[in-house]
Amino acid sequence: MTVTVRVPAKVNVQLGVGGLRADGFHDLANVFFAVALGDEVTATAGEPGTGVTLSCTGPDADAVPLDDSNLAARAARLLAAHHGLAATDVHLHIAKAIPVAGGMAGGSADGAAALVACDALWKLGTPAEVLLELAAELGSDVPFALVGGVALGRGRGEILEPLPVTGTYHWVFAVADGGLSTPAVFRECDRLREEAGTGSADTEVATPDADPALLAALADGDAVALAAVLTNDLQPAALSLRPALAATLRAGTEAGAIGALVSGSGPTCAFLAKDADAAEAVAAALRASGSCRAAHATHGPVPGAAVTAGE
Ligand code: ATP
Repeated sequence: MTVTVRVPAKVNVQLGVGGLRADGFHDLANVFFAVALGDEVTATAGEPGTGVTLSCTGPDADAVPLDDSNLAARAARLLAAHHGLAATDVHLHIAKAIPVAGGMAGGSADGAAALVACDALWKLGTPAEVLLELAAELGSDVPFALVGGVALGRGRGEILEPLPVTGTYHWVFAVADGGLSTPAVFRECDRLREEAGTGSADTEVATPDADPALLAALADGDAVALAAVLTNDLQPAALSLRPALAATLRAGTEAGAIGALVSGSGPTCAFLAKDADAAEAVAAALRASGSCRAAHATHGPVPGAAVTAGE
């Protein structure tokens, strides 16, 4: 028995970061947008007693942990524990296209895909709302990878509200060499706020909210209006830790992108293009610029984790 699940990466078209809370998290106003650039996770029934095993292929495969810390393995175990399954013998193969530690929630995507794949492999029929609860236990970005489309994430990002969106948008992602640690980027964001004298605590920073202009642009299918209001409160921190990203953002903009921002905690840079041809041209210019390791033209929004094949 084998089940394959395709799962999208995300870009945050808005990432509003509130102050540091007493529990160490930040309140977020996070508009997630699922793009066709994605991973595939294939679950195959294992021999009795083998437990959860993993393999990974793709350009970043060496950077993916193949131990118990892998979110796909944790997802399989969590689902089995929830249903009280005695045996969790499954092999999970990750065909990885999402950059690792790139700010596109690749690990979270694999966690969501593994939940869906194991649910189908083990014929559990777990209700969608239960899968969402298990996803939120795995990590703040995992529920969105299940849902896909465009959604507003509040709290740590895990409380999701699907958003109305019209049309298809054309994106380019410039992949950097090496990743950035998400906690390190949040710490740098706090440090920059302290340095600027504004303070970094949740009592000092306004609670972020979704930008009405951004929601209207998405609902209207207006890529130019969306491009004008793309925001990422983590961008100054990502640029501070990785100053070379400024050149990447400039190269994409000079090549005709209508919008540019760091994706999530970075270092992947995201560019909005006016159509598919413009996206291909921006990707080609980024590759030629030498300011990134790879550049991919893609589109969205696309649905969340879904079974594509099984036998
Ligand atoms: P986010 O945008 O959610 O902050 P990210 O896209 O920046 O995340 P990931 O690709 O999810 O980062 O990887 C972050 C770390 O998670 C990796 O460095 C790796 O050690 C660990 N990890 C665990 N499981 C996976 C997985 N399936 N794929 C990639 N990384 C994983």
